[in-house]
Amino acid sequence: MNKFHFKPINLSRSGIYKHASTTRRPDNARQASLEILILQPKPSVCQMNKYILLLALGTTVLSGCKEFKKSDMENPFLKPYTTPYEVPPFNEIRNEHFKPAFVKGIQEQSAEVDAIASNPELPTFENTIEALEYSGALLKKVSLVFFNYLSANTSPELQAIAEEVTPALTKHEDNIKLNGKLFKRIQSVYNQRASLQLDPEQKVLLEETYKKFIRGGAALAASEQTRFREINERIALLTLKFGDNVLAENNDYMLVVDKEEDLAGLPESLKNAAAEEAKAKGKKGKWVFTLQYPSIFPFLQYADNRTLREQIFKAYLERGNKGNDVDNKAIITELTALRAERATMLGYENHAAYVLDESMAKTPEQVNNLLEKLWKAALPVAQREQQELQALADKEGGHFQLAAWDWSYYAEKLKKERFAYDEEAFRPYFSLDKVTEGVFLVCKKLYGLEFVKRTDLPTYHPDAIPYEVKEADGKFVGILYMDFFPRASKQGGAWMTNYREQSISRDGQFVHPVISIVCNFSKPVGDEPALLNFDEVITYFHEFGHALHGLLSKCHYESLAGTNVSRDFVELPSQVLENWSTEPEVLKLFARHYKTGEVIPDELIEKYKNASKFNQGFATVEYLAASILDMKYHMLSNGQKVDNVTAFEKNAMDEIGLMSAIPPRYRSTYFNHVFSGGYSAGYYSYIWSQMLDADAFEYFKQKGLFDPATATAFRKNVLERGATEEPMKLYKQFRGQEPTIDALLKRKGLNNPEIVQPKR
Ligand SMILES: [Zn+2]
Repeated sequence: MNKFHFKPINLSRSGIYKHASTTRRPDNARQASLEILILQPKPSVCQMNKYILLLALGTTVLSGCKEFKKSDMENPFLKPYTTPYEVPPFNEIRNEHFKPAFVKGIQEQSAEVDAIASNPELPTFENTIEALEYSGALLKKVSLVFFNYLSANTSPELQAIAEEVTPALTKHEDNIKLNGKLFKRIQSVYNQRASLQLDPEQKVLLEETYKKFIRGGAALAASEQTRFREINERIALLTLKFGDNVLAENNDYMLVVDKEEDLAGLPESLKNAAAEEAKAKGKKGKWVFTLQYPSIFPFLQYADNRTLREQIFKAYLERGNKGNDVDNKAIITELTALRAERATMLGYENHAAYVLDESMAKTPEQVNNLLEKLWKAALPVAQREQQELQALADKEGGHFQLAAWDWSYYAEKLKKERFAYDEEAFRPYFSLDKVTEGVFLVCKKLYGLEFVKRTDLPTYHPDAIPYEVKEADGKFVGILYMDFFPRASKQGGAWMTNYREQSISRDGQFVHPVISIVCNFSKPVGDEPALLNFDEVITYFHEFGHALHGLLSKCHYESLAGTNVSRDFVELPSQVLENWSTEPEVLKLFARHYKTGEVIPDELIEKYKNASKFNQGFATVEYLAASILDMKYHMLSNGQKVDNVTAFEKNAMDEIGLMSAIPPRYRSTYFNHVFSGGYSAGYYSYIWSQMLDADAFEYFKQKGLFDPATATAFRKNVLERGATEEPMKLYKQFRGQEPTIDALLKRKGLNNPEIVQPKR
């Protein structure tokens, strides 16, 4: 499930439109959590345009055949990559190469699929299931680069291409999944499965392929299939439009500050960044704050000016909800109805049941059960936190009831008062270079890996640096691109993706992965190096955990390799690695002052440890509220329409007793995960994975942070195995037992709040 791969046939496991590699960092803290969408191919805006575009693309297919030859020779997608390690030849790829490659890729896979479907031989695993797995090589090749560009290196031209190719890709995908002859052959192989001598991974591939077709509507009657296709196409359009709208809203807003006194409370680094932002926006001498996370969240945390906090936070909260041409409410109404209708067609009670059938959690009941248990533990803690913040505001003479735009500000003050803790104090110890050394060192100590910077490989942007990854014995593992800083062509948030998935090729060659992590970390300012805050350090480890999952994969089939696992399992490798970044023993190995070289003081680490449970009621509640909202939208049965999104959200939140000072982490109209990304009925999966990672790390702590046997067990049973086995089984093989919620509650200070939370 590489992030955006539109996987034409290797559809990801949890839904038709999941391109998701997932891997956006979610949620530990709001500042970093705000990873955005998992992008999908861009569709046109309205139904009418869509058909025009489809026709246009159809024409391209025809005329493309004639014009083909000349441009073909120059199109890097249409010949083997001759770069070192066959990384994409980024320096040769131009925008005009994408469309012809998509057109040819679709043609090629269609021909391959036709050949499989009309093969005169009896259906076998090899001539049907495996043949399908290996089909569409060109389409995958171009899709990987294209959809990665669309998120990390986009432009209006690429967005326009996406609008054109998306409907064609959707249609192509449906053509395969609704190919009756093909499905008959798959069904025939599936029915013989008991007597076929398949190895365990082949069995999984067969089952997954069969299931994908069933879930893709292959068993539907012809009349139903027409409607099914319509729904899929429409959903693809709506989800893209939703994400575009949020992006437009993000870019549309800026808070311009003219007077320096309005910056009171802000750290120097943030003031400088805002001054640079202003310069870039043609407002030299002023300060500009945006809805980008490194701007708005520190502002909310530190700005003394309550009116300005309110102003920027309201702009944040109202994205997609202003009744303008990028309003998302009507999209939500239509999208939830279509998803429910589709689930019903496939025999599921609702969209959540349909999605969760493919997860580790299995059912909506299991998910709700976990969410409810956690909610009960977290809500009283959040309520107590609110009282404490209110008391602080009162003490300072504020005559107001604590509002959402006050929470971070007073929480920061209280934290300082209680723990003398200032996040900014860490930055000097977290220069990007040192943190990179730290991440590499942890991976070396755990898995023996080495990372070598390669200046000779092509890259898609000067900020994206390639590394060669090697085993302890020097054996080549794969290539890793790391791309850290924000820019206009990049989506917000942080994510891992790949340019090539690990697999074994049809002729038996081991295909090494090409992985990428993309972040939006604090940029270097002036002559200083990039200095990260703690949250960014954790994000770095998080994405690196995903990268390891992609890099260390040892699977046979691409569609089952690396991070192509269920959503509620995919965050285990990333979140578990975060734990090393906060252990004093590990921090002392790499966190050194960028000027003096001084090792991070024990006292500072101690402060961090003490403060780590602070405000966890809030963090858990805002996250759970969004998860619950997601489940409510997706447990609607067919016919239960959301007429009023605002009222629906309010009712859902009132029902669970959410206080007004804590909005859900994502409100409906900018909840990209579930309305634009691949996380519908899946936002819970972050905390499900947290349960797993807390439980797993507890085990590491028992055995020793770098205990070789434990690390090897994790590598062999989780990192190398992709989706070649049930996640619960893999987990138990590593851990020796099923996970429990205990370690998570303990870590969040929710198990016994009276004891863990120090009293004032
Ligand atoms: Zn992640």
